This record gives sequence, structure tokens and C-alpha cells, in this order.
Amino acid sequence: MTAKPSTSRSRPADHVDNGLYQQDILSVRQFPPPILDYIFNVADEMRTLVERFGSADLLSGKIMANLFYEPSTRTSSSFMAAMQRLGGQVIPINSVQYSSVSKGESLADTVRTLECYADLIVLRHYELGAAAEAAKWCHKPIINAGDGVGEHPTQALLDAYTIKREIGRADKMVVGMLGDLRFGRTVHSLTRLLLKRNITFRFISPALLRMPDEIRDEVIADGDTFTEHRDLEEVIGELDVLYVTRIQKERFTDLGDYEKLKDAYIITPKTLTKARSEMIVMHPLPRVGEISVEVDEDPRAAYFRQMENGLYVRMALLAAVLGRA
Ligand code: ASP
Repeated sequence: MTAKPSTSRSRPADHVDNGLYQQDILSVRQFPPPILDYIFNVADEMRTLVERFGSADLLSGKIMANLFYEPSTRTSSSFMAAMQRLGGQVIPINSVQYSSVSKGESLADTVRTLECYADLIVLRHYELGAAAEAAKWCHKPIINAGDGVGEHPTQALLDAYTIKREIGRADKMVVGMLGDLRFGRTVHSLTRLLLKRNITFRFISPALLRMPDEIRDEVIADGDTFTEHRDLEEVIGELDVLYVTRIQKERFTDLGDYEKLKDAYIITPKTLTKARSEMIVMHPLPRVGEISVEVDEDPRAAYFRQMENGLYVRMALLAAVLGRA
């Protein structure tokens, strides 16, 4: 991969060329095993750094623009915290309705503006392919923080990191993905990231919310295995990971369909009586009822640890893209 051309003003002389330096981060396809392991190792170091010192000055003098066209709590604030804990600064545009976007400015012009002020742009957008489109116009790296129903690569990185930490490996296992597999971008990215790792996928969803053909075809093309189910009960006993997702209300054109499907799955302590004692429950969050709060007490509930891991993984990624890891 060649680094994005950047101006001599912004390019540090002392960068580390780690394979991600000055790269747009658009898809998990950019993370073959050695690069993924590298991110995991740096994330471990970031955890130690935060635990011991709280912050460092690795990215001092760097500025990140956070450009969010869709709501976010974790992704947005963990990117901001990651930048600030590494000594960098943030331009937060989390309410695009108060920016020139509401005057009708195009995405291309908005990113061309922000690249004059920032060293990289974290972009969340409601349109599939928006991050790739923005990257065409922008000379600074774009990090895809979710593009509609497409991908959410940094979520998948933190998900895979969580699996590795919790289970001790991120291969040779049975992973169940449950809920809205059609519109849920996190399961699209995570499935892609876990390909070629000897993982058996169990896709559990209502018929209307099945995993898209494109992703299922990629699983087959890579020689991995998946089965599809309506009932969690059929497979819960064999899972190493149960990855639960929210039914993505905002993606439905017919809200009647959403109403019919919104309570399709609710994980309770009773559901987990049939699960293995080492299985972990993950969720990208926010949850809106699909995991009952009583499950939080179960040691297998990994979703809050997963959320914390997002900080360390995003610190690692920012340091890598800015050539300081
Ligand atoms: N926070 C995740 C996302 O942005 C999951 C969700 O919204 O359900 O895709």
C-alpha cells in the first residue's frame, strides 16, 4: 500500500512506516493477520500506558477532525479520547446540522475544508460508500467510522481484539451472530475480518434480516463455513462467541416491519443457561432491549469490556496512521 500524498507541511520526517501510515481506513480488508496482530500489540501497549500514566504526548501537534453525520456515543467519544490521551487535539463536528452541511455543502467540499485544518478525518455517514467517496477528495487519511449499512472497520478491530483477549485466540471457533444481520454494519465487518481463520459462523436472524448475499458469498469463497438459523436455541450450546446486534430501526423503509421484528430476540439469564460456561456475549452497543440488564452480572457478558477495548484499539490505529506507532 502506498501512503496518501501529503503536503510537505504536514508530513513528519520521523514517521514509522508500519503499513498503515497515511492510509485511509475504509474496510477491514486492509487488515491481513500481520497488520491485525500489530494493532493488537500496540493496543496492549496503549492499555498499559493509560493504566499507568493516563496520557502521553505521542501525537502532540496532531489534529483529528471528527465528522459525524449519524448519531454516535462510543465511536465518537472513544476516538476523541484516544486522540486526546495521546496528546493530540480534536475538531469535533458531531452535530452536522450546525455546520455548513445544513446549508447544503457537499461531502467533498466538507472534507476538503477539514483537511486544511486537521491531519486526519474520522467520518461517520449514513450512505454506503461515503468514506471511500470522501477519500477520493481528501489528501489526508479518512477513517471510516461507519458508512450506512456498509462497514464499521474500527468496530470490527475492537471486536476481534476483544475475542482474542477474552478467549485467548481469534481463530478455530464457533461464532454466532444474532439479530439484524442485513442492516448491521458491525457484523458485516466482523465476518470479513474473521475470514480464513477456521471459524464456523452461525447466522441467526429473522428471514427479512439475513446476512447479505455479498457477505455470505465471501465466506464461501474463502472456504469458511456458515449455517443460517431462525432460532438461537438450535445453536447456542456450541457457541464460543454470541455477538448480539440491535435491530437497526433507522434503516427500515417500512416501520411496520421494524415493529414486527424489534423484539425477535431478547437474551436473558434463562437464555444463557443453555450456553457454554466459557462462551462470551458481545454487542457493539447501544442495546435497546435485546439483552436484558440482568445479563450484565453474568461473567460471560463481555460487552462493557468490549466497549473499553475500543479506546485502546483506536489509540493504536491513530498512532499507526499518523506514523507514530
Ligand atoms: N454502534 C454500532 C454502529 O454504529 C451498532 C449500532 O448502532 O447498532 O453500527
